[in-house]
Amino acid sequence: MSGDESVEGALVLFSGGQDSTTCLAWALARYERVETVGFDYGQRHRAELDGREALRTGIAALGGWRGTLGPDHLVNIEGGMTAIGETALTGAMEIAMTGTGLPNTFVPGRNLLFFTYAAAIAYRRNLKRLIGGMCETDYSGYPDCRDDTLKAMQLALNLGLERRFVVETPLMWIDKAGTWRLAEALGGERLVSLIVEGTLSCYRGERQLRHDWGYGCGTCPACRLREAGWRRWRERFPDRE
Ligand code: ZN
Repeated sequence: MSGDESVEGALVLFSGGQDSTTCLAWALARYERVETVGFDYGQRHRAELDGREALRTGIAALGGWRGTLGPDHLVNIEGGMTAIGETALTGAMEIAMTGTGLPNTFVPGRNLLFFTYAAAIAYRRNLKRLIGGMCETDYSGYPDCRDDTLKAMQLALNLGLERRFVVETPLMWIDKAGTWRLAEALGGERLVSLIVEGTLSCYRGERQLRHDWGYGCGTCPACRLREAGWRRWRERFPDRE
């Protein structure tokens, strides 16, 4: 099955967060064979990684995509990331803005690493499309989320692996309100609830406090972004129900 090049295959960079979960549904709605890859890099909070399998199962059932969803690949790069340096995501620091205008959660070039690993897996699995939830619209200034970066990455991978990969970023030009809207369009209220219940954006990994937009501390930058997007989405479409 993995060697059949006549099938349109995709590999989704799937962290188990809101964005990559929406991307997984997007890919399942489009392609005949979809696999996922996740990275264990010693995240401060393992909640997101731990929830991945339940999300995969839930999405596959909800969209009638059981036959489309293939295996998950979990790559442990913790040793490498730790060696590169301590940041707020992996270390014990508090989240803060740094002098460069980037939050200290930034792991330099993280997405470049992820795509390189993903391409190596996709090469072996004969999957043409590499799909990630990067977004330039309300991103936190991460240069490796930029559209130009990912277009250059596609070119580098195609040259370096001598394959025709297509890097796709369905969330690149939409905001968080648009991401909620997209999830609803792809899987209705059931996908929205799955994302609310099963994904955690919170930098602090808060799993006890439940809001209408999901779990989280409600005050860290990731919670604030998620909540603001949810509110804008509900306000923009007040007559949805
Ligand atoms: Zn939070």
